[in-house]
Amino acid sequence: MTEAQREQRRYALAISGGVCEVCGRPLRDGQPQGAHRIGNTQANRAKYGDMVIDNPLNIGYTCSLKCNGALDISGNPAECIKLCEAIYTREALRYEVKK
Ligand SMILES: [Zn+2]
Repeated sequence: MTEAQREQRRYALAISGGVCEVCGRPLRDGQPQGAHRIGNTQANRAKYGDMVIDNPLNIGYTCSLKCNGALDISGNPAECIKLCEAIYTREALRYEVKK
């Protein structure tokens, strides 16, 4: 695991509040796993780019493989576009010049 991936995991755990995003079960009771909303596949990387796939907003925290699957929005273009919009808005803030 790279430092960037560890950072991503810490962030995801922090924003999840320690509970599964799908069922609300405390993560420590299950087998915590980071779940990609837009799936981490070569096809999706080619389509959306690494910035989207690896973005903290594209990762949710779930308690199990079953809940992990429930976060996948790859097959829902409207949800994917909404998520991309949120990611691009968030990324833009990092480069915003103070007025
Ligand atoms: Zn769960």
